[in-house]
Amino acid sequence: MEHIVDLHTHSHYSRATSKDSTLEGLYRWGKIKGINIIGTGDFTHPQWFLELREKLELVEGGLYKLKDDLAAPINAQLPSSVRDRTIRFIPTVEIATIYKKGDKVRKLHQLIVMPDLASVAALNERLERIGNLKADGRPILGLDSKELLRHTLEVNPDALYIPAHIWTPWFGLFGSKSGFDSIREAYDELTPHVRAIETGLSSDPAMNARVSGLEGIAITSHSDAHSPIKLGREATVLHGDASWQDLRGALTTNDERLAGTIEFFPEEGKYHADGHRVCNVRFTPAQTRAASGMCPECGKPLVVGVNYRVEELADRALPRTISKQVEYIVPLTEVLAELRGVKSAAGKVLLADYHNLVAAFGSEFDILRTVPVEAIHSHSPLIGLAIDRIRNNLVHRESGYDGVFGTIRVFKDAQERAEKTAQLSLL
Ligand SMILES: [Zn+2]
Ligand SMILES: [Zn+2]
Ligand SMILES: [Zn+2]
Repeated sequence: MEHIVDLHTHSHYSRATSKDSTLEGLYRWGKIKGINIIGTGDFTHPQWFLELREKLELVEGGLYKLKDDLAAPINAQLPSSVRDRTIRFIPTVEIATIYKKGDKVRKLHQLIVMPDLASVAALNERLERIGNLKADGRPILGLDSKELLRHTLEVNPDALYIPAHIWTPWFGLFGSKSGFDSIREAYDELTPHVRAIETGLSSDPAMNARVSGLEGIAITSHSDAHSPIKLGREATVLHGDASWQDLRGALTTNDERLAGTIEFFPEEGKYHADGHRVCNVRFTPAQTRAASGMCPECGKPLVVGVNYRVEELADRALPRTISKQVEYIVPLTEVLAELRGVKSAAGKVLLADYHNLVAAFGSEFDILRTVPVEAIHSHSPLIGLAIDRIRNNLVHRESGYDGVFGTIRVFKDAQERAEKTAQLSLL
């Protein structure tokens, strides 16, 4: 059976998150989005951990569910198209580390997935002696990432440890600003315990396949959602049971249980290209090299993005085939915003369109991935056209850079949009 997994989320105890980032919010949006296994995020935060213990219940297979009395009122409000979907939770956290290694200051983010809440309690007890776990749902520890991995394994050798968004300039394992050039440089003798990485929004599996050091490592993708409506921006596809055993097996052995990932077009990520936001300079890797890495406007070093960094570390050509399935998506709200010709993907009319589609066809992932295009077309020819183009990767891309999201468009320009919207009705 296919399961869609999103392990990188945040609670409302993390900075810059929505007040809807509650377990109930994750449960509700998990159903709407079409995700089956959701990481709780933030398990090191004392209050959030209390909530996890109160609201979750261990079920067969070793994953958790939201208690029935909490789930029932949410289900009552959901359309029947998604109401009966199964949602499982698994304890996760993202931890930021800052430390010096090899004469450089390193700043890394990593995900930890724990099989059970008892192990979470044991890890939290260790980590609260090292740093402040209350200040932020994503705590910042003055701890070598390798030592964090060691603590994690000592608490529970089955835990999963996943370097997060490994290519982002800041906080990525391979980031241009404070990262390393290889997994071994960061983890030394513990390297064999790093079995999976997260690509981040700005890179895709093909880019990662050019680095031989990632051979055999499980490539995963997750949303890093700071609001439940952003769940599943990217996700990992699992074949097997909705169980801890199959989740762990997939991510440690990279076998056929890890079917693949659902990805942003990497250009949409905030750090795909190079540049300076304030100087309005966006460069390709070739342009950055030609400028010796310096901004022509302000003369300071450019923020070197993911694409450049992959080229720097790539030691082989792009393999002809990627062994796992890779599907590219554009969030449905963004698609609707383009069709409606509005800037914000969060307007009322637009969300009404969105929920109408979910009620008619099922979850967002169903709509983006599997509902026959003809069915969507007969509901709205314009949306059918848009989904068809996205499924065939026929989109127009403008790269993100220096913290600015890129844009992915279904239509080439305003003229094409105007022509098509005149011909085809929206809803
Ligand atoms: Zn992060
Ligand atoms: Zn995060
Ligand atoms: Zn500049």
